[in-house]
Amino acid sequence: MLQVVADAEPAPAKPPVDQPAEVPPDPNAGEREAQRERALQYVRERLPDPMACPMGHSTTWTVTEPVQLRPVAGGLFAPTGFPVFQLVCTTCGYTMFFNAVVAGILPSATESAGSGK
Ligand SMILES: [Zn+2]
Repeated sequence: MLQVVADAEPAPAKPPVDQPAEVPPDPNAGEREAQRERALQYVRERLPDPMACPMGHSTTWTVTEPVQLRPVAGGLFAPTGFPVFQLVCTTCGYTMFFNAVVAGILPSATESAGSGK
């Protein structure tokens, strides 16, 4: 089976000094974890097993929740972007991106509009 470390996420960066030390609880934490679980299921069903990292031959990966890649134009981030989840090599950090809508992790904009959400 593809070796995916369920609870190993990249080490969080230290917060900038202008941010408060305590962050309030995330009300969407449950949904984010559910999305991450769907991404993990997608990876286990679709990818070769084992799958070696092209950079270092490690076969251990971690999966993230969906995030948004946003284009930059004129030095500013675009208001919309591409929903992706990441598959990250736990040895070297090499990262692959998968479109979260194509993978069925998130609904498409059309599906979201139709459901009233
Ligand atoms: Zn690697």
